[in-house]
Amino acid sequence: MDDLFLKIIDREVPANIIYEDEIALAFEDINPQAPTHILVIPKTHIPKLSDADSSQKDILGHLMWATGEIARQLDIEDAYRVVVNNGAKAGQSVFHLHLHILSGRVFSWPPG
Ligand code: AMP
Repeated sequence: MDDLFLKIIDREVPANIIYEDEIALAFEDINPQAPTHILVIPKTHIPKLSDADSSQKDILGHLMWATGEIARQLDIEDAYRVVVNNGAKAGQSVFHLHLHILSGRVFSWPPG
């Protein structure tokens, strides 16, 4: 399976890993779009959010919890944005589900 983020989980591709538990992994984005830019991923291969099935609800919930926990650990819990790009037309480029945590600058609304 050609999945870059599974290779990061397996330590075949290096990354600055900042959080890990049995379900999730988080690491710094290689091309940061904000002073803090972290990716939170499941250890299970889910290509995109809309591919998750009902048996994976706990994984999705855990990713949201882990995102809040990571924000607390990074002391950014008062000002961060969470983004999920779902599908190539929405800007997804890596097809392993990931939540972007972005912080450290002003974010406009609506998003670009
Ligand atoms: P998306 O466009 O939503 O699929 O986001 C994919 C993200 O993965 C982008 O922000 C990339 O900069 C990031 N990325 C791609 N390759 C790596 C890598 N080897 N290590 C860390 N982040 C990566």
